[in-house]
Amino acid sequence: MAEPAANVNPANPTEVARETLRRLAMRRIAPTPDNYRTLYEEIVGVPDAPPADAGLPSAVTTLFGLVRDLNLHYPELAVAVEGLNQAIRKADWAQCRKQLGQIVLQLRQQDESSGSGETPALLRDLLARTLEFGVATQLSHSPRLAEKALQLAAAVSDARNAASLRSVTSGLKSLWVGVEMQAPDVQQQQEMLRRILLLLIENIGELLDDDTWLRGQLDTVQEIINGPAGIQSLQEAERRLKEVIYKQGLVKHSLREATVTLKAAMTTFVSRMSDAVAANDEFQGRIASHVERIGNTEDVLELNRILETLVDETRAAQADAHRAHDQLIGERDTVLRAEKRIRELESDLAEMSALVREDPMTHALNRRGLDDEFARETARAERFDAPFSIAVLDVDNFKALNDRRGHKTGDEALIHLVRIAKEELRLTDHIARIGGEEFLIILPNTAVAEAAQIVARLQRSLTRKYFLDNNEKVLITFSAGVAERRADETQEALIARADGAMYEAKHSGKNRVCLAPGSPARAPE
Ligand code: GH3
Ligand code: MG
Ligand code: MG
Repeated sequence: MAEPAANVNPANPTEVARETLRRLAMRRIAPTPDNYRTLYEEIVGVPDAPPADAGLPSAVTTLFGLVRDLNLHYPELAVAVEGLNQAIRKADWAQCRKQLGQIVLQLRQQDESSGSGETPALLRDLLARTLEFGVATQLSHSPRLAEKALQLAAAVSDARNAASLRSVTSGLKSLWVGVEMQAPDVQQQQEMLRRILLLLIENIGELLDDDTWLRGQLDTVQEIINGPAGIQSLQEAERRLKEVIYKQGLVKHSLREATVTLKAAMTTFVSRMSDAVAANDEFQGRIASHVERIGNTEDVLELNRILETLVDETRAAQADAHRAHDQLIGERDTVLRAEKRIRELESDLAEMSALVREDPMTHALNRRGLDDEFARETARAERFDAPFSIAVLDVDNFKALNDRRGHKTGDEALIHLVRIAKEELRLTDHIARIGGEEFLIILPNTAVAEAAQIVARLQRSLTRKYFLDNNEKVLITFSAGVAERRADETQEALIARADGAMYEAKHSGKNRVCLAPGSPARAPE
């Protein structure tokens, strides 16, 4: 039998160990530790073989690696492998050699009895290729499933006997179930894209007079479209977009105020000038035209241009006008300083919020605080094998509250919500602000049903401890989705499930709690 070209990744010890064994078997070389080491190094490409005795410790290490790999991939060889393990520990090389011989013999028998005829090998190859190039590439939207398909492809290529093929079969079934369960994901993605588009369309009015802002928003959307559009990235994009729209609204408001101040200052100045030089007809005419231009523009740049012209003309005017001129420069500087300060504060705020763990307004945790607590609590849950749930909350009809009562009242409503949540939740729970009016509650040591009860209790307490705006009772309600973490589930995947349940709560009438499907099954207490 010709030795097939080994397609082995030398950085993967499992592959190398397996290939070493195969070469031992095929070349019918005595399976001594040193021969094993020589072949191992032939595959990983060690340039010059070290002297035999100097290499012994490395042969031992390699042999322990072999034991681990054999245990992992050939459970049916357990007895012989344990014999080998004991022999290495006792440094009994004669016994070691005997056990290795036994393992190689069993492997050869397996290979022959599984009939390595051409057809099964071809079919196996075809199945592996289909999984690797056909299925895995189609699953790019779900890296977990794609990875599973690749692992199955590798398992098919390596399957030596009926038992390992059987485990591939069950792996294939579970991959299929996984693919089917992804279908709602795709629907959810489409729903999310639709919402992002709606958000943009609703804000088009705001976009019209400022195209730098438009570009900023479109860049965000462009990023999503270019990258792999998973549910999590879409959810994050939607939150970011909402945040940008809200923040830009605030900044634009401040700039508009600054422009109004500048305009008022200039009008005062011009009328003073006009008084001062009333005698000069020609100058009077020019001033009238400036007044008209100031009235007609909202553009800061244009105002600045008029200002420059005025300043030039003023230089030629009389002493009286000089004082007014200085005054105007002073006013303009005040406005520019205020504008600069607004920008500085904005960027300070952004920097600070990256460093601190708390949202300064509501004192809920911010993203960073959430990430820290999530990591800490999931590690604890894993250590004690305890249930772990989260809830995603979104305030109902918050935009309407903002529109009716103003943003400041909106802010106070959010502060109130967090204060009541902290009073009602247990000391071990945490609340984080993950978007404008969206919050996440971490519920350690809590299964999904209990989590839903706790969140419903918070809903009830908000009806008792209502929010007061100018002595008027305002009822704040929220919709929530709860989800219990599955073994090894990532933070993003868990939040995506809770988010899905929260949207279900919105769609089915708001002010309610929905449970995410797929929580771990538990034996009744
Ligand atoms: P729904 O019941 O479907 O959740 O309706 P909604 O009006 O709450 O929905 P949406 O999420 O579209 O609106 C949230 C609004 O919250 C949009 C934005 O103007 C406002 N907002 C975001 N951040 C803040 C904030 O920090 N303070 C205030 N006052 N408002 C904010
Ligand atoms: Mg929202
Ligand atoms: Mg809302």
